[in-house]
Amino acid sequence: MTIDAGEQPLTTHTAHSGPHLIHWRARARDLRPDGRLFIDGQRRPAASGATFHDISPIDGRVVAQVAAGDATDVDEAVAAARRAFDSGAWAQTAPRHRKQVLLRFAELLHAHREELALLETLDVGKPIADSLSVDVPSAINCMQWYAESIDKLYDEVAPTPPDTLAMIRREPLGVVGAVVPWNFPLLMAMWKIGPILSAGNSLVLKPSEKSPLSALRAAALAVEAGLPPGVFNVVTGFGHTAGRALALHEDVDGIGFTGSTATGKLILQYAAQSNLKRVSLECGGKSPNVVMADFDDIERVARASALAIFFNQGQMCSAGSRLIVHESLRDRLLASIVKVGEELTPGDPLDPATRLGAIVDAQQMQRVLGYIASAQQDGARLALGGRQVRAETGGFFIEPTVFDNVQPSMRIAREEIFGPVLSVLTFRTEQEAVALANDSTYGLAAAVWTRDLACAHRMSRAIRAGMVYVNCYDADDITVPFGGFRQSGIGRDKSLHAFDKFTELKTTWIDLN
Ligand code: NAD
Repeated sequence: MTIDAGEQPLTTHTAHSGPHLIHWRARARDLRPDGRLFIDGQRRPAASGATFHDISPIDGRVVAQVAAGDATDVDEAVAAARRAFDSGAWAQTAPRHRKQVLLRFAELLHAHREELALLETLDVGKPIADSLSVDVPSAINCMQWYAESIDKLYDEVAPTPPDTLAMIRREPLGVVGAVVPWNFPLLMAMWKIGPILSAGNSLVLKPSEKSPLSALRAAALAVEAGLPPGVFNVVTGFGHTAGRALALHEDVDGIGFTGSTATGKLILQYAAQSNLKRVSLECGGKSPNVVMADFDDIERVARASALAIFFNQGQMCSAGSRLIVHESLRDRLLASIVKVGEELTPGDPLDPATRLGAIVDAQQMQRVLGYIASAQQDGARLALGGRQVRAETGGFFIEPTVFDNVQPSMRIAREEIFGPVLSVLTFRTEQEAVALANDSTYGLAAAVWTRDLACAHRMSRAIRAGMVYVNCYDADDITVPFGGFRQSGIGRDKSLHAFDKFTELKTTWIDLN
């Protein structure tokens, strides 16, 4: 979701990986991540003393004991965030000062980029090459970009009659909670942290229980950069305890959520049951990747389509999981995608030559294997992969998998799998292609491949999705909003539009008579 289809993350890597692999394995062995909570600028255990095992999907090894925060810890973190907000030590400082602190934070993230990349790879099993070249640099760029924006945003004066002055100002919400997933742990967190802190809010971040380590490290670096204690707190723990307590909290003014649609619906309920806190949701997807009959560069679309579903082991909200191809191109395109997929053998995520890593945990692996079994029962044709591999390592790996002859009613065509599983469907007319693309409860991303400019415009207007890529997939820039229609969410991450979620508009009327 953060890579350009023209980049090379899935090409075969020819670097000598041996010494590098030894290097990363040694660093992984020596790493002792601190899994305690981060509240009011201090590390501390959960009030209950409870911890949970943070397990690496690379080999099933315990990477760290992590504090299992609950409602008591959330109360303390929210109280610290409220004190920090009310003190004005962050919210009331000059924009230029906030910019400098956050730029220094970005510099510290950069200085610790290898450590952060290693934490990501150990926590979720993504290839170290991706953590180093995609996750961490994109997170740093995000922080820099929002920091730079702070002293460049102006408020408004409304065009009211001459005897009045109406000023429209953006104010921070106050205390904001962020609840984020595990697929790009630091980056998804940073899409919230950037605009939340830049707008002057205080933050309580609840990372996924599957990937808590980089968030804890980032919060400590933010304080080292000069962020006042209490402005950025991290409560690790489970969704139904820590996450729920945060979303139900009476003193939290807003929640920025990224995760599944099912959890997003719960977050809305918690807001309604408590204080009507502002809720923004970045949820799931089942994105169509439509190839029109006139698109002749089959190699290019095959590579981009493989990347769109296999990058990050398919664990991407915007994954192009439904390939909707004109029937005249189906055989050639399928053969080319299978060829790309065959070259993608899952490998050791700590090896810089590895292009496909592990699935985040055993539960997610079983879920993906369950979808593969259901597709076979439903009569789809397995064209590639379909099996668990590298079981001897103790880790959780699945081959790139492609199903042909998929019918729109099948579960694999309708439900978000969040794994490296592609469904191939065919169409005859443009109208049919649009109908298939829109046949989903989701509306996050979509792509159209065509040489016909008018068709590209018609399709991009007709498809109900927050992002439509033409002749590319997953084009990405921090300046561009990210988010979906329908059950893919409410609101947008990235770009200046993200400030809409974490600020209130205030109008001040002045009578000039
Ligand atoms: P998830 O919904 O299971 O969990 C997301 C977060 O919510 C985690 O921190 C979890 O602990 C927390 N949570 C779970 N139950 C909760 C509850 N009852 N109350 C409060 N918090 C709770 O999702 P996941 O498996 O971590 O992530 C995968 C999902 O995220 C996919 O659906 C994917 O499409 C989506 N996603 C969306 C985007 C986007 O920008 N639209 C980006 C990345 C991932």
